[in-house]
Amino acid sequence: MGIEPFLVATALRLVQAQRLIRRLCANCKSVGKIPAQTLIEIGFTPEEAKALQIFEPKGCDKCNNTGYKGRVGLFEVMELDEEIREMIMIGASTSELRQKAKERGMLTLRQSGLEKIKLGITSIEEVLRETSKM
Ligand SMILES: [Zn+2]
Repeated sequence: MGIEPFLVATALRLVQAQRLIRRLCANCKSVGKIPAQTLIEIGFTPEEAKALQIFEPKGCDKCNNTGYKGRVGLFEVMELDEEIREMIMIGASTSELRQKAKERGMLTLRQSGLEKIKLGITSIEEVLRETSKM
């Protein structure tokens, strides 16, 4: 963006990414059968994959047969601590910064999405479309 890394590093405390995804229609969402292997590939643990109930869109007159109604946000928040500020100053790339933040326990957009799938709020397709695994 043509901004000095030094200015960004000192001015920001939090960086937040957000995606809006569609919410499954509560009236018609149906339980889907997803192979455990697929669930593990998109980021669930083997234990979660065994116990999870996954919902899929179906479609009814309440949702214009789309299977979705309303939207819900996925969030990723990166806290800029001392080490991350230093990385920005020396010109670290976005992926290097994300990697470091993840090591620190940052919840990624994908993880935020998996949480929403777990709660039956949205479908796997919605989350996969809007988040990268990284
Ligand atoms: Zn519906």
